[in-house]
Amino acid sequence: MTVGALTPCGLLQLRNFVTTSVCNSIEIVTEMATDVIVIGGGVIGLSIARELALDHTVSLIERGRCGQEASSAAAGMLGAQAEAYGDDLFFRTCVESREMFPELAASLLDETGIDVGLDLAGTLLLSFSEADIAARSQRFAWQKAAGFEIEQLSAAEIRREEPFISTDVLGGFYLPKDGQIDNRKLVHALQRSCELRGVKLVEETAVDGLAVENGKVNGVFAGKEKFAADKVVLAAGAWGTEINAGFDLPFIIRPMRGQILQFRTAKQLFKHVIVGPRGYIVPRSDGRVLSGATMDDAGFDASVTNEATAHLIESTAEISPSLGALKVQDSWTGFRPFAPDRMPVFGRVPNAENLLLALGHFRNGILLSPVTAKLIANDLRGIAAVPTEFSPSRFYSAAMGS
Ligand SMILES: Cc1cc2nc3c(=O)[nH]c(=O)nc-3n(C[C@H](O)[C@H](O)[C@H](O)COP(=O)(O)OP(=O)(O)OC[C@H]3O[C@@H](n4cnc5c(N)ncnc54)[C@H](O)[C@@H]3O)c2cc1C
Repeated sequence: MTVGALTPCGLLQLRNFVTTSVCNSIEIVTEMATDVIVIGGGVIGLSIARELALDHTVSLIERGRCGQEASSAAAGMLGAQAEAYGDDLFFRTCVESREMFPELAASLLDETGIDVGLDLAGTLLLSFSEADIAARSQRFAWQKAAGFEIEQLSAAEIRREEPFISTDVLGGFYLPKDGQIDNRKLVHALQRSCELRGVKLVEETAVDGLAVENGKVNGVFAGKEKFAADKVVLAAGAWGTEINAGFDLPFIIRPMRGQILQFRTAKQLFKHVIVGPRGYIVPRSDGRVLSGATMDDAGFDASVTNEATAHLIESTAEISPSLGALKVQDSWTGFRPFAPDRMPVFGRVPNAENLLLALGHFRNGILLSPVTAKLIANDLRGIAAVPTEFSPSRFYSAAMGS
């Protein structure tokens, strides 16, 4: 331990700017302050830390190893249009984020040498009944009217594009802009870029609570350590509101379990992300094909269930009988973080100065990662506040009944 001198208030001032509080018989070692602490090393925390490192000193504290939770479990679809039901701010934000990926992928390759597998071949939506074709035409009419690219395809056109899909297909739609990325490579590249940009990555360290004084957050506690900072960004995914904030938050973030199966073909048999009526398949360039994903509210139970496996095999076989007949090579679960209204929760918290939230990305956290970094950085730099639709303040007004 560094040698130091005791100050009148019981703080030990240490030579490397570390202080030790010996009050109440609990020894708290305080790390030298950084401008920003990011809690959570998933795709969201890493994206934010990487962006802020351009003009701030940043520490990122991760309970385990970076990128091992939802961000690795995901399928990596950039489904801004495929997942949309209306032309609202959420949809426009998803599209904005999707458009940021080519530049992000190029910059990560340039900085780290890691190719994040951005694949812009697009997404095919398959229909197996006339009713489904009609429902989808209606569902996507507004996207067409608003100028977003979407093409209706016949069964023959679909099978020409994808010869290994089911002969039962009746038609479908093609979304040329909804691509995919290899999310595991993405988090790996983001982590490497953070290191290169000087972010201090503190892994295997769980944050227990925020340090709050007079309504101002000035750091975080992890066991006996206090990490001091001018600003704290909470990006701990499905665990975001399990951390003791030191004040009341009028909402909680919960986990929505998702399960995925992995098949492998000798070479890449599918070119597009393919969405069927009950599931989707995401082909990777090395022959892996992900089949996903279930949604069940099972708390933090990480089991892969027989029921989900059977469902995914069936939904895969519906898209491609030959793929569904293959042996499952791997399977896993992950926890999508969701807020009560299933919308993201970004930005400042009304009753805690210096705290920003980046939570609740639910089904679209990979897709939304670049725009989240931009929105949080703009807010933190005083350029623009996060749009009120995403702000945590919506839960405060709801709690007050307005
Ligand atoms: C099966 C599945 C499929 C999906 N498919 C897609 C898809 O195709 N496209 C898409 O855009 N999105 C998809 N998603 C959603 C996406 O994965 C998530 O929205 C996104 O990964 C959330 O990122 P995150 O960084 O907030 O959370 P996480 O990746 O879970 O990261 C949070 C991190 O915080 C850390 N942490 C927690 N508590 C603490 C603490 N006390 N102290 C320090 N660190 C802590 C955790 O260890 C974790 O590493 C999918 C999710 C699942 C589960």
